[in-house]
Amino acid sequence: MARLGMVIDLKRCIGCNACTVACKQENGTPAGVHFARVITREVGTYPQTRRTFLPVLCNHCDDAPCAQVCPSGATHIRADGIVMVDKDVCIGCRACAVACPYMNRHYIERGLLAHGYSGDGVSPLEAVKFTQFEEGTMTKCTFCAHRVDQGLEPACVVTCPTEARIFGDLDQKDGRLRRLIRERNGWTLLPEAETKPSVYYLDE
Ligand code: SF4
Ligand code: SF4
Repeated sequence: MARLGMVIDLKRCIGCNACTVACKQENGTPAGVHFARVITREVGTYPQTRRTFLPVLCNHCDDAPCAQVCPSGATHIRADGIVMVDKDVCIGCRACAVACPYMNRHYIERGLLAHGYSGDGVSPLEAVKFTQFEEGTMTKCTFCAHRVDQGLEPACVVTCPTEARIFGDLDQKDGRLRRLIRERNGWTLLPEAETKPSVYYLDE
């Protein structure tokens, strides 16, 4: 079985946030819930300054603390490594949000699904998309599991105009992901948390 993962090439990312928008449209997340975000920083001293971009999403950790602490079993890891939440089992205790060191859990507050992104009622698209969420429960990035199950790549990957995101199987020894990580010294966020993330970054 595969262990699905992603490599994000920071040398290619231009901070356009197309991934953020693509994710929002694909998953129809409620207002304030962003599965795919881009952290922007300004570095240097004027006039020698530049902006850096760090796209973040759920790392689909192999040793996922969110799954380990979940008392109901709602958070579970699929055989292909995708970390999921079953909204019908989640009791909304938010233990996973505390356990995730990357702040990638999103709680659907009571009343949040009553209005859409524009704040003025719910659009026809949102009316359909919102059926996958439940107020009072947790949600998160699924690596677009509904697309993956159809042989498609996550929306953020296919939308990225610079092809900074590469999706694939981390278990394939000679696969593209493992080769990029090996050849360009790929790294993960917060290795000290020992969560074994499936999202790697390249900056060399
Ligand atoms: S990044 Fe957070 S939410 Fe995602 S699998 Fe890891 S611990 Fe869980
Ligand atoms: S909020 Fe839901 S998914 Fe998170 S730990 Fe509690 S029961 Fe599990």
